[in-house]
Amino acid sequence: MKYDVGDKIITKKQHVCGSDSWTIERIGAEVRIKCDKCGREVMMLKMELDRKIKSIVEKNR
Ligand SMILES: [Zn+2]
Repeated sequence: MKYDVGDKIITKKQHVCGSDSWTIERIGAEVRIKCDKCGREVMMLKMELDRKIKSIVEKNR
């Protein structure tokens, strides 16, 4: 899956706060995403995130 910093993604599972919308903050060997509702940041392997994404809702570029 292709995404860039600043893109918003929708995950299959909701975060504990009830939101399923996240913003990509950093991309590398690990990807950092930030929950749009509660602001919690989560890091995970790109491979792992690919499996959790339902859709990419906004492209930054
Ligand atoms: Zn949250």
